[in-house]
Amino acid sequence: MRHALSRLASDIYFPRVESFGYLRELKIILQMLNGVRARAYIFFRRCTLPSESILHLIEAGGHEIGLHLENSRSFDSFANEKSMLERHIGRPVVAVSKHGSGKARYGFHHYAPYEPANYIHWAQQSGMKLFLGNLEDPSIRPSEDETGFLAYPSAFWLEPAWRDTRRFTIDWLCTQANVLDIVLLIHPENVLAEPSLSEDLKRLLRSLDTRMLE
Ligand SMILES: [Zn+2]
Repeated sequence: MRHALSRLASDIYFPRVESFGYLRELKIILQMLNGVRARAYIFFRRCTLPSESILHLIEAGGHEIGLHLENSRSFDSFANEKSMLERHIGRPVVAVSKHGSGKARYGFHHYAPYEPANYIHWAQQSGMKLFLGNLEDPSIRPSEDETGFLAYPSAFWLEPAWRDTRRFTIDWLCTQANVLDIVLLIHPENVLAEPSLSEDLKRLLRSLDTRMLE
């Protein structure tokens, strides 16, 4: 079985200005995924909540919606963002990832430190099933607790800025995904802006199966 997992996130700094662009690019990626029946976790921030047409595409493709956590100061701020997203989509959210990897602050609500042990703890406490982390070494293996909660500390970032491109090539991912589940992380706006990344994604979607984790 060949498995890769897709994870999509939005990292738009000025959501009010760019949300139209963000949704347009996410729409193109979702149409691409749906065309080859590839499934993904789509992570939304509190300020880039999905539109009605995006929700239809997510439903049609069998994708899962996750919380891309911005204000990670406390359990309360986490629970607040989770319920905001759940109210918007009308169902429970079981997956969480963190906006930013601890270096820079992006936007008004963003709390920059990257503290994955907190997010895992809070997610477990609130009945979630999955954490997808931001580390950049895709050879780090996931962990699972006694309740079945899964934590993937790292991902294969398609964008080269967050990947050791000599070690972790597209070929490496294809070979590893023959035997292991690996999270493939993309940002639609970056992938569509760079033709070679779009080609990489199309190649991966042609040669790998995807599956959901929880
Ligand atoms: Zn982000």
